Amino acid sequence: EAAQSRFASRNKHSRKLHEESAKSLPGGNTRSLLHTPPFPVFLKSGKGYQVTSEDGHVYTDLVGEMTAALYGHSQPLIQESLISTIQNVGLNLGGTTTLETRHAALICERFKLDRVRFANSGTEANLHAIQGARKFTGKRKVVAFTGGYHGGCYTFGNGPAENCVDLEEWVMAEYNDVEDAKRKIEGGGDVAAVIVEGMQGRGPCIVGTSGFLKQVQESARKAGTVFILDEVQTSRLAPGGLQELEGLEPDITTLGKFLGGGIAFGAFGGREDVMRVYDPREANALGHSGTFNNNTLGMAAGYTGLSQVFTPDVSREFNARGDDLRFRLQELSHGTKMTVTGLGSIIGIHFLQDGKKILANFNDRKEDSDLRRLFWFEMMESGFWFAERGSVNLILETPWDELMRFVSVVEDFLKRHERLV
Ligand code: PLP
Repeated sequence: EAAQSRFASRNKHSRKLHEESAKSLPGGNTRSLLHTPPFPVFLKSGKGYQVTSEDGHVYTDLVGEMTAALYGHSQPLIQESLISTIQNVGLNLGGTTTLETRHAALICERFKLDRVRFANSGTEANLHAIQGARKFTGKRKVVAFTGGYHGGCYTFGNGPAENCVDLEEWVMAEYNDVEDAKRKIEGGGDVAAVIVEGMQGRGPCIVGTSGFLKQVQESARKAGTVFILDEVQTSRLAPGGLQELEGLEPDITTLGKFLGGGIAFGAFGGREDVMRVYDPREANALGHSGTFNNNTLGMAAGYTGLSQVFTPDVSREFNARGDDLRFRLQELSHGTKMTVTGLGSIIGIHFLQDGKKILANFNDRKEDSDLRRLFWFEMMESGFWFAERGSVNLILETPWDELMRFVSVVEDFLKRHERLV
């Protein structure tokens, strides 16, 4: 309570803006995830690895826009690419451009896809991947996993969220449960696709075991089911994404986030024969439209980022840095209620009643929500823009010293709240 009242008095202007905002947006909000009680802090601007709030506080950004802000908020090459596109190309030309051709070619090369198509978000990419799989197989059902997140309308706890459009067409299986995956994928008969994250983002950061992911792939092959690997977040974990790390060969991979260079973006691609259902030169092709699918800004900034900034070497070095940070946090967590999960540049920080250190499944988490909230308040107070649910998504430009300051602030938190941990 003391932390919450300090929060309220540090962010008085944000409270006012929130009240104003609620007059036109339900709950003052247009992205449910960003609603953080008692009210969200309003941001004014971002530069490099920092963001500044409307109350004038400067934070080191550990939210990293849920992996989309890999390049930070003012990466010079990305800025140059955006400005030069505005000045020399224009916005939304309403025609095909070479900007999309070169970005598609680079994405196909990096992620080993035969063909790719663009969309405006990861949600849309998954929607089209699933519709494509249905068309390709002539089947209807989709296997998804407990705790999975594939976008605003594809959100799963122990079942699909209510706003998922066709509830009866989804079959739920347990994440990291080899036998259950096998049973659900191979046993259904009418399974068009199985969709899975290599690491569940919403957990946050529940890592799929190699055995489990390989089983999903194998069962999909056996059942004639399209294996969709959702790499919307994990594509940044290696030059060719998590599929490269794990040696997976999905039929369709879905992408998004940083691959648009910071502009709204989604993509889905993979096997030529599956993607052919979207080839408009074929009879009965599936339609896939979207006014902004090939928007010039995302195509240009995404290409610049992937070709000039997040090169394969940078990707490897960056994720090694993330591993180093995670190991340091894990060291601190021994004997406390804090549990640290993740891979490379994506880290999950949990506070659990039983202090369990390995999380295999969404249902393994018995959260200590008071402690989690206290942690959030204190991280914000210490100058870290921190996701309330506990995910840390690193930004390329964040100095190592600043990440080490985070480690010492966490250490101090654990010491001060010893009686809680
Ligand atoms: N899939 C995964 C694994 C995600 O983490 C997200 C977003 O967080 C999405 C899909 C949806 O992407 P978008 O928010 O661009 O619709």
